[in-house]
Order: sequence, then C-alpha cells, then structure tokens
Amino acid sequence: MSQRDEVKMAVAATLPSESGFDRSVSNVLSAMEVDPETGLAEGDASERLVRFGPNELEASEAEPAWRKVLAQFQDPLVLLLLVAIAISLLAWALEGADGTPFEAIVIAVIVVLNAGLGLWQESRAEAAVAALQRMAAPHAHVLRDGQRHEVPSSEVVPGDLLLLSEGDAVCADARLIESTSLRVAEAPLTGESQPVSKTIAQLGSATALGDRTNMVFSGTAITSGTGVGVVTRTGMDSELGRIATLLDRTEDAKTPLQTEIDLVGKVLGIAVIVIAVVVSATIILTSEISSGSDLVEVLLVGVSLAVAAVPEGLPAVLAVVLALGVQRMADKNAIVKKLSSVETLGSASVICSDKTGTLTRNEMTVRSVISASGSIDISGSGYLPDGEATLDGERLTDAVLLEEVRMVLGGGSLANNAHSGERDGEWFVEGDPTEAAILVAEAKLGAAGARAARFERLDAVPFTSERKLMSSIEQDNEDHARHYVVTKGAPDVLLGRCTHERSAGVVVALSNDRRAQIGAGVDLMASNALRTLAVAYRPLDDPTTAVDETLEDGLIYLGSVGIIDPPRDEARNAVSEAHAAGIRTVMITGDHPLTAGTIAKQLGVAPPEQSVVTGTDIESFTEPEFREAVRTHSVFARVAPEHKLRIVAALKADGNVVAMTGDGVNDAPALKAADIGVAMGITGTEVSKEAANMILADDNFATILTAVREGRGIFTSIRKFLRYLLSSNMGEVFTMFFGVIGAGLLGIDTAGGTIAVPLLATHILWINLLTDAAPALALGVDPPMEDVMAQPPRRLTDRIIDREMQLGVVLTGAVMATATLAALDLTMTGGIFEASGGVVEGRTAAFTTLVIAQLFNAFSSRSGRNSAFRHLFTNKLLWGAVALSLLLQVAVVTTPFLNTAFDTTPLSVPQWLLCTALASSVLIVDEVKKLILRTNTSVLASPEPVR
Ligand code: ATP
Repeated sequence: MSQRDEVKMAVAATLPSESGFDRSVSNVLSAMEVDPETGLAEGDASERLVRFGPNELEASEAEPAWRKVLAQFQDPLVLLLLVAIAISLLAWALEGADGTPFEAIVIAVIVVLNAGLGLWQESRAEAAVAALQRMAAPHAHVLRDGQRHEVPSSEVVPGDLLLLSEGDAVCADARLIESTSLRVAEAPLTGESQPVSKTIAQLGSATALGDRTNMVFSGTAITSGTGVGVVTRTGMDSELGRIATLLDRTEDAKTPLQTEIDLVGKVLGIAVIVIAVVVSATIILTSEISSGSDLVEVLLVGVSLAVAAVPEGLPAVLAVVLALGVQRMADKNAIVKKLSSVETLGSASVICSDKTGTLTRNEMTVRSVISASGSIDISGSGYLPDGEATLDGERLTDAVLLEEVRMVLGGGSLANNAHSGERDGEWFVEGDPTEAAILVAEAKLGAAGARAARFERLDAVPFTSERKLMSSIEQDNEDHARHYVVTKGAPDVLLGRCTHERSAGVVVALSNDRRAQIGAGVDLMASNALRTLAVAYRPLDDPTTAVDETLEDGLIYLGSVGIIDPPRDEARNAVSEAHAAGIRTVMITGDHPLTAGTIAKQLGVAPPEQSVVTGTDIESFTEPEFREAVRTHSVFARVAPEHKLRIVAALKADGNVVAMTGDGVNDAPALKAADIGVAMGITGTEVSKEAANMILADDNFATILTAVREGRGIFTSIRKFLRYLLSSNMGEVFTMFFGVIGAGLLGIDTAGGTIAVPLLATHILWINLLTDAAPALALGVDPPMEDVMAQPPRRLTDRIIDREMQLGVVLTGAVMATATLAALDLTMTGGIFEASGGVVEGRTAAFTTLVIAQLFNAFSSRSGRNSAFRHLFTNKLLWGAVALSLLLQVAVVTTPFLNTAFDTTPLSVPQWLLCTALASSVLIVDEVKKLILRTNTSVLASPEPVR
C-alpha cells in the first residue's frame, strides 16, 4: 500500500462518514488537525499536498513523446514517401548496390526534417496553450498561518480552511464551520436548480448528499453570503471526483477555421493525387522506360508531387499562428481560453460592457454628501485620508450639518465589508472600492475611530447587484447594547424602504415633497457623473442578531453620498476605435441611469440625445419593444444580471456577434450565452471566469479592443500564408502537369534524359521543405499591412478562401509554372527555344526559378490588393526566411556534394539572372492584378473585407 493510500485510510478512519457532516465542528477540526483561528501552517500544507496529491480531477495520460514523433509519420502521404524510399533502395540494391543511394537518402533526410519541423510547431503551439491554461487556472482563498491567501485551487489540501464568498467556485468538499447567509448553487452535482442555504449544524449520518446542508462540494458555486469550511476531500476523492469519468486532456475542439482548412486540405489532397496519377501515367506512356530504376523514379515523381502539392503544412502553421496570437494577446492582458475565440473576436460586431471598473477606473472618491440640513463637498482624491468637508469652498463648521454628515458616513462605514487603517505605518484600504471610498471619507473627518469603538457587528448581508442593498446589525455599546439595522444602497431602492428621516438630531416622517426633494438632490449628483448611494438605519426593539429582509423596512433615512469614479482615459479612444471598426458599444450597468448616461456621453458610447433604458423599462416592454430598444439604445442602467442574458439573446437574434463582460456569479449565464464572454481578472468572481471565453487581466475595456484588433490581425495573417502556400503548391502542380504533358514541346523527352519530367522528386520535396516552413511561418506573424480596425467586422459565415483568393491562387500558380518551364526551355537543347544546356542544366534552372518565384510570391502574398512594395521592410523575419531559403538553394546548385545528391549542376551568372528575371514575373503579374483590383472596385461586387 502506498504512503498516500495509508494516509487516506487514516483520514477515512477518523471521518467515518467520509466527510464529517454528521460530526460536530470541533470534532471535524480535530480530525483534520487544523486550528480554526490560524488554518494550516504553510509547511504543513505543502507536506499534505505531497501526501494527498494535487486537488485536480485526474485527466487521461498525456501523450508520450514517442507517440507524438510517430504521429508525424502517420500522414498517408509521408507513409507513401517511406514506401517510395524503400522501393528506391530496392531498385538500387537490385542494380548491384553501386555507389551511394543518394535519392533515397535525400528523401529520407527531407522526411525527417519535415517531421522535426512538425514536432517543433506542435510543441510550440501546445506550450502556448498550456501557458494560457495556467493563466486562466482557478484560484481559492484559504486561511494559512493566520493569513488569508489566494492559492491555485489545485494546491488546496485536506485540512485547509476555505474562505468562501459570493461568486467563488468551490474547489473541494468542505465541512462548514462558519456560515453567514451562505447559499450555494449545487445543480452540477445534485441537479437541484435553486441555491441551497447552508448552516453549520451537525446532521444525522443517514443524510443524503443533496441534504447535507453543512457541507459545500467541489464543482458548486457560492451564490451569496460568506462562510468558512474545513476541506475534507480533494481531487478525485471529492464527490465530484467520484462521479467524474476520466476527463480528456483538453483536446480542444477544432475551430471553424481549422475545420475549413482541414477540408481544403482534404479536397486538394484528393485532386492532387488524381493529378499525380495522371502525371505518372503520362510519363510512363511518353518516356522510354527501360529500367526498374526509371520506373521507380516515375513513381517517386508521382508521390513527391502529391506530397509537395498537398498543403499538409497548413494545419501546423495555422496552429502555431493561432497559438502565437493568443500569446501576444495574453501579453496585452487579454487571456483567451480557447483558440476558437480568436476567430470570433475578430468578427465581434457588438461589445456590451459594464461600466464600473471596465469603462471607469474603479478608483472611487466620495465627493458630496447630502443630508437633511444641506449638502457639502469632500476634498481630496484617491484612497489616502487627506481632505476635509467643505461648504461653498470653506471648511465645514456648522455643527448640525457636520453631525449629519458624520452619521451618513458612519452608517455607510458600518454596513460595509471593506477595511482601512494603518499597517506598518502605511495607510491601506481593502475590499470593494465603493465601500472603501466611504471608509476613506469618514477617516477624512476623523470620525472612524470613535465609531468603530462604539459599535459591534452581529450580522451582515453583503451587497448584491440584485438587491442593490447591504445591511448589517450593530450593537451600540454606548447605549445599553441597543441593536440597530444599518443599510446602505441605491438611493431609489433604499428610499422606498424609508418612512422617516433624521434631521438635526430628530426623527421626522418623510413627506412626499421631501422624498421628491431627496430624489432631485440624488439626480443632480448622478447627472454630474457621480455614483450615488444612500444610508439609513433603524433601532431594533427586540435584540436581533440576524438580518432578514423584513428588518430593512420602516427605515430612517440619513442622507446620500456622491462618489466620483472617473472614466478610464483609454476607454474613450477604445470606444471611438470600436465605432470606426464597425463595432457597436453598449453599456449595461447596475448604476443610476443619470450617472450611466453622463459617463456614456463622456466616453462617446451613445450620442448625447439618446435616452437611457432602465431595468424597469425592460420589465415593462413587450418582446418587440424590447428588441427595438436593444437595436436603438446603447445605455442600459439599473439593470439586473438577468437582463444581460436577454440583451445578449436579442442582439444575437439580430445576427450580431456579441462580446459581453461580466464579473458576478449571476453574470455567468450571459457570459456563456455571448459569443465571447469576457470576465474580469481582478474583480471578477471565479464563477464568471469559468463561464467566460476571455479574461481581462486588467479589467480594462480598452483591452477588449486590443484583443479584437489582434483577432482581426491574426485573421489577415492566416489569409496571407494561405494565399502563399496554396499558390506556391499550385505552381508546383502546374509545372509538373504541363511539363509532363508538354514534354515533347519543351524537348525534355529528347534531351538525353531518361524520363520526361521537368523536375525530379527530390527537387519537389526540397521546394516543399523550403517554402512550407520558414516563409509561411514568417507570413503567419506578418503585421497587418492596412489598418484592420478601419473595416467592418467579418461575418462569421464568410469563407476565408473566397473567390478572389481562389482566382489569385490559380493565376499565380499558372504564372509560376510558365516561368519555370520557360527557364527549362531557355536553358536546354530542343523545345521551343534553342539553347545549349543538357537536361540536368535545364532542370537546375527550372528548379531554381521555381524556388525564387516562390520567394517573390511570399512578398506578393502579404496583401490581396496592396502592392508588395508597401511596408516592404517591416517583416524582418520574412526577409530572414527568404535569405535562408535562397542561401540553401545556392548551396544546392553550387556545391558538388549537393549537386550529386540533387542531380543539379552549377549555373552561370547569366543563367542565375535569367532564372531571377523569369521568377520575378510572379511579382509583376500580381502587382498588375492588384492595381486593376484597386482601381476598378467593380471587378468584385463587394468591397474587400478585413484582410
Ligand atoms: P456595473 O454593473 O457597471 O459594474 P455597478 O457596479 O455600479 O455597475 P451595481 O454594483 O449593481 O452596479 O451597483 C448598483 C447600485 O448599487 C450603485 O449605483 C449603488 O447605488 C449601489 N451600490 C453599489 N455598491 C454598493 C455597496 N457595496 N453597498 C451598497 N450599495 C451599493
């Protein structure tokens, strides 16, 4: 029995019910050997991690390296080549094993190089995806060594104290030892659709899983409240682990683009194999096949043609380009969880964003306070408590007003879960920025200490976007331990629960006029872009220690605060960039309509004259009215999370590709429903991060635009290398096909060669190796030539290889083949043009021309319509790749050893010039084509999409 199993047995023995739900809290804590005050010691936790293993559901085994290597040789075309090598060796052996079997060796080297390249590309792509997965990995909060720590969920161990709050994804099974209104969504585990309330009370040992209300389970989510649980089971030992079948190791489903490209590869493959068969048969018919080795050569030509012409490098290059793209996005704070989102991002036509923190900085400062006796300002900015209350620019001295302001801020600081104070001589604030701002404002008045000493919290219900309220129950230690409920929240919601107001130390009934007056004051603050919040309280006649909603009625209104949260500087540009790129921006916020409207106007999200649609409006709309509102309005305020889902659905029904941001647990359905769910890396809950396709590491709206720009850029790069690889392959196929068909015309059959082919198998394979690799990859990372954000979004249904590209590929292929065959004929005896060279010289010239033509084609392929000379030197990698390919070709033509291996011969300078001149026709013809396309847009009905 392994040590791990022994430990498991030991724990099982101390916790017979396997999780401790039928035990008392103290019993479970001692069984798990953990102190509830401090949690585990860090050292103990690491030791337990070794003993129990990581808190993960086991995935199936990773593919071993040898299998990946083998997979490179499993391509039917490569297998065909391997057979060809065997045949070639056999023929060589049958003919007396004379000399070195160069052809077989060259082909073998090329096959191995190709496989190596494939492996390198694959590992590069895998590494990028793995790095992203680490970045998007879930985290949990635990108490260790008396401190709150955020750790990767995989490092949570049995005995850890899990600190749970709204929006957390529970990552292990835990027995609760504290629960404050904790509610948990357990549907993934038990199928129960409603959140379950959790307590810490001990249960009977026969309690079924769904009724174990003192436990939280891995795979579930906290919908509200807070709690602490001691972890009893992790990883595969958890309830989820028991029901989980082995997970497949993140075998990412293919993206639509990958599927399209696979299909292209397949169709081309079949076409090319047919052509290869026709070419081989023609050679056999037209040549005088006299020996077995000739026959082998013909077969090799057929096989090589198939191998070279099928763009088998495409999927690998595509995977690398996508992977490098997502890596670049991650460097710019956009963590994309799935490769397919890259494509969707490039097509986004609407971006729905919340306001607070995404479009604004989430740096809150209380600016104004309005109470019954007047309205004051508070100076200072940021979270340092430097500032004071002022009235008309002067320091506030009015004792009555000052007392009221203190009560508003004091109440706001009691119903508050943020923390502030001094630590090691440094001022600090922690928690929700809105709440922190109130603490800071109170500290500016120097009132925080006395308030904190006087009141003791008995219970609290944290703020939720649904209720838009937060309440706490406080015991007043200076007034006979009297209990109060203190509530802060959205003014419109809170006022509805107030019946009285505190004015100059007296509680008076709220008249309708006074309500209207308060509302007007709040609206004034909101229209100045301030975030508004009201504070109220009520003494409780009976000592009560738990908040329930009935306590939040009949409240006494204290006053309201106005908090500034400036728009992000970069958001304004991002919004206008989105509009220029044909992307609509929509603000969906829980905030006040006037605040939202003002910020939206400042940022240019909506035109000044457009009205704001509120959650109440949405509730009153009929479905067609709602659809219309979504179509015509860009600011939605005071909405609840479920409205987001409806907005996404309406936008999608209109044919939009929708990106939607969200941070709370209740945003998860909308994030899932959107084409691109965007979660907040800093303020977002774990649940929202799980539901999203993309995480913004900096919570910044501008980052979404950066991701869209990258997505579009990646798409243009893909088009570039597709254009390049397909047209280059077409050039090879045409050369071989027309060379063989026209062998008589070109004089190949009479030139003293054995078989009538323009290029040998090794030539084709060499070209394939040179061009499929470095230049194609360099094009895959080519920076976009034109402004990708100046065009409308691409429709998801648009084919990537459209008609224009198809025609371009055929044209370039035809020009390339013509140049290659012309080089052959202009160098060799016989044929249309008389020359003195032999067949080896002719083939060397053709071979070289085709290589150089492909290098010219690499530059042409950088744009479908723009001249290749535009931004000619921006892609250093491409120049490097071209230089390398050229150098290798020079080596193949000039070095005696490679001459033997490739059956080539050195060319004279005029011959090199001839080859280069002929090859450049690819560039020239393409430039003419592009000029026609640019000047005569009617050649194609539609304007060029993003490319
Ligand atoms: P967004 O949806 O853009 O992130 P938001 O954060 O303003 O916007 P909510 O968090 O739903 O949206 O806030 C709605 C309203 O609730 C605010 O306008 C404010 O009046 C009130 N509010 C916000 N935070 C708190 C809080 N911590 N306690 C009490 N009331 C709050």
